[in-house]
Amino acid sequence: MVALYTLDAGQVAAGVKSREFSAEEYIYQLLERIEKVEPKVNAFVTVNNKEAIDRARAIDKKVRDGEQAGALAGVAVSVKDNICTKGIKTTCASRMLEAYVPPYDATVVKRLQDAGAIVIGKANLDEFAMGSTTEFSRHGTTRNPWDISRVPGGSSGGSAASVAALECTVSLGSDTGGSVRCPASFCSVVGLKPTYGLISRYGLVSYANSLEQIGPLGRTVSDAVSVLNVIAGADENDHTTAGGKPTYSLQERKKGLRVGLVQEFIEGADPAVAKVIHKAADTLVGQEGCTCEQASLASVQYALASYYTIATAEASSNLARYDNVRYGFDLSPEGYEWNSYFAKARSNFGEEVKRRIIVGSYVLSSGYYGKYYLKAQQVRSLLKRELKALFKKYDVLIGPTMPILPFKIGEKIDDPLKMYLVDIDTVVANLTGMPAMSVPAGFADGLPVGLQIMADEFQEQTMLDAAYLFEQAAKVQRSPEL
Ligand code: GLN
Repeated sequence: MVALYTLDAGQVAAGVKSREFSAEEYIYQLLERIEKVEPKVNAFVTVNNKEAIDRARAIDKKVRDGEQAGALAGVAVSVKDNICTKGIKTTCASRMLEAYVPPYDATVVKRLQDAGAIVIGKANLDEFAMGSTTEFSRHGTTRNPWDISRVPGGSSGGSAASVAALECTVSLGSDTGGSVRCPASFCSVVGLKPTYGLISRYGLVSYANSLEQIGPLGRTVSDAVSVLNVIAGADENDHTTAGGKPTYSLQERKKGLRVGLVQEFIEGADPAVAKVIHKAADTLVGQEGCTCEQASLASVQYALASYYTIATAEASSNLARYDNVRYGFDLSPEGYEWNSYFAKARSNFGEEVKRRIIVGSYVLSSGYYGKYYLKAQQVRSLLKRELKALFKKYDVLIGPTMPILPFKIGEKIDDPLKMYLVDIDTVVANLTGMPAMSVPAGFADGLPVGLQIMADEFQEQTMLDAAYLFEQAAKVQRSPEL
């Protein structure tokens, strides 16, 4: 019999519900797997052993009693440690929140659990989701399961690595400028950032509210759909969610997709990456009636500057709440001096977070607001106009998710600008609110390459059709030796 930890979400739920195997058996296998590979990968901040077993037993009981066990009955999910889980520490990989235990579940977590899913642990990340490698974590670096001397991408590196290393079946990450898609690409798994407003952010610790969305990761497109169908849809606790409760399916094979290959993304990529992406485009063209043309997105040259201006501006304001001070009327102890107290409290942030707070405060300051922040906002409209025009001609736009291959741990950590540059292909979707996903495209020098697929707002179904078509034709999915 195949190891239960290799199954996809649909297979796990079906197996548990038909009593082919129990949720408990499956969870025990996963916990054993975690024990074996975690010393190498370090994908988890917290493993939720005991509660996971209890929940599995409760699911098994429901099945035995003939009750509804849910669409994701028994499915083990890792949850990025910036998404609130009731009773389970949610640290944001920061010293600042080292001891924080949320009194409530994020909407996405609640919906997953209501559908029978089991939170197997909290996944590692860059502190407050600021980074592209998971190196900026109080909990230590997560390593890429394909080569543990390399970064897994970030900031949802623990999420992607735990899925790739078969330590869970699916995961939740957050994507402010690429944090679901970047690690998905580097770890050869599927990761999806939905249209802004499709998924509730209630219970997500804010980094840059106007850019970010929670998104699913899995080993297959079908895994992403299984999770998306449970978590997507309006939430009264997040008024930025759009109305309704959409569902997606991979039943109908889409024919004649019009694909645009974004020239600027290809030109900026490492030749080894570009080669894999050209091959991926050829694979798509080989499918019934699909066409692929070069498309141009000229204002992409302003995207990174705009992103890092807006993201840091929002971060500086969001992170102001971590001040160790709550309410009161002059409760200052003898000798209290506000400046030194505040400085001490704020010293609990790591270097990268401090850098962002400083940059963000600067671009918002009165003399510079118009020069930086306002300009950055104008770039958003420009990009959106250009993309809207392209989506009149094309159903989807494709390119590399990441311009380079997974690099060595430590390689870029001392050079923030080099680090920021790797986000060039992913930030466009966040600035414009459009959906984008990364699917495994193949390997170069034995290292994963991800294909990014973008679609127009709320056209997730079209994006998933293209992803599924590619996945079925290219057959690149496999797991690393660990
Ligand atoms: N790497 C980008 C940043 O550091 C994106 C992070 C994210 O999407 N959370 O801001």
